[in-house]
Amino acid sequence: MKVVDNISRMATLVKIHKKEGKSVGFVPTMGYLHEGHLSLVKTAKKHTDVVIMSIFVNPIQFGPGEDLAKYPRDLKHDEELAGSAGVDIIFYPSAKDMYPPGYCTYVNVEGLTDNLCGRSRPGHFRGVTTVVAKLFGIVKPDIAYFGQKDAQQAIIIKKMAEDLNTGVEIKVLPTVREVDGLAMSSRNMYLSASEREDASILYQSLEQAEYLIDKGERDAKKVIKAIETMIKEKTSSKIDYISIVDTKELKDVDTISGEVLIALAVFIGKTRLIDNIIKKVTADVK
Ligand code: AMP
Repeated sequence: MKVVDNISRMATLVKIHKKEGKSVGFVPTMGYLHEGHLSLVKTAKKHTDVVIMSIFVNPIQFGPGEDLAKYPRDLKHDEELAGSAGVDIIFYPSAKDMYPPGYCTYVNVEGLTDNLCGRSRPGHFRGVTTVVAKLFGIVKPDIAYFGQKDAQQAIIIKKMAEDLNTGVEIKVLPTVREVDGLAMSSRNMYLSASEREDASILYQSLEQAEYLIDKGERDAKKVIKAIETMIKEKTSSKIDYISIVDTKELKDVDTISGEVLIALAVFIGKTRLIDNIIKKVTADVK
């Protein structure tokens, strides 16, 4: 496995592989790898000849007061995990090479970025789509892999890839969870032991929402209220949002029908965690 920190070297390597007729799979990450990231690599490995993973803590997707400075980093450990999962090249650019003095081009997906995390983290998705567009330009992947864990991000990137005619196929893979249901996340390492226990309430509350919908509940407000009640029982929690939206435009729904995304962001102590499920309602209960 190679580790490449130079943008033009990375682009040259891709050119060589493409000339040999090899397909390129791409897994963009911010590092501090866990099984969620590795599941993307393992699938990429099955579909494509060369798997490239970027590790880049992208400064422009963090707002003021967010955790850019303390975001966990461990390149050595990441190299071991990525290597054993089958990554061929780690692309590890520096912020000063990605955003040199005078940098002034940004990609913004309108509408889809207004609700959910876009509402509580203004500018976040502009940072994400900008870096992913740049990475696509450098790595020129055939297929890029994203996690359902960041549901809004995946939907926005799919739209960007299509709108900008990138030619990159976007695949979204299921959320990998700990045994108690907590979605794996690099940010889970911020949690104290008791916060870690409390954090499992996020997925438990989503499972409860699913149960209510399966039993016939269609009133989005009532389902949201049920999730809220469960989460509020944990004194370490502070709810950022709990929303039920359609999966096309990400707009709040009043009545649950068709396919909906149930998404939430909750602070456990000082750590902001997100999770979601997609629920399909096939036939309405009378
Ligand atoms: P990050 O390093 O947090 O920016 O995540 C990089 C990629 O891994 C994104 O596409 C995430 O959605 C995906 N990812 C993060 N956590 C998980 C998880 N628990 N299960 C599946 N994919 C994940």
